[in-house]
Amino acid sequence: MSKSFICIVCPVGCHIDVDDNGNITGNRCKRGLEYVKTELTAPKRIITTTAKTIFKDIPRVSVKTDIAVPKELIYKIMDEINATVIDKPMKIGDVLIENVLDTGANIILTKSCQIQGVV
Ligand code: SF4
Repeated sequence: MSKSFICIVCPVGCHIDVDDNGNITGNRCKRGLEYVKTELTAPKRIITTTAKTIFKDIPRVSVKTDIAVPKELIYKIMDEINATVIDKPMKIGDVLIENVLDTGANIILTKSCQIQGVV
């Protein structure tokens, strides 16, 4: 069965088609080819979300995985993030959860969480 994808590797967003014979067309570069091959076999995603803190002024802080993780683990990884509470000042790029669920991905802060007068 033929399939269509929109490549999310770069902002161009090529429409890529895979026909019944597995021929891939529409990608402007090799990265799109690799993206579609991964989507067909083991799709991955970067997770972006927020994590709770103990700080009243900053109750949630934005976080993300530093690499793409298997799509089927997204909900389990979200559970790990939701079970974690930031209880100390941290800065952008700091690792909140290392090697989450043995995926090789770290959950890192994408915004600093520093309370005035604490740091
Ligand atoms: S195929 Fe290449 S140019 Fe097109 S969206 Fe993907 S990465 Fe960008």
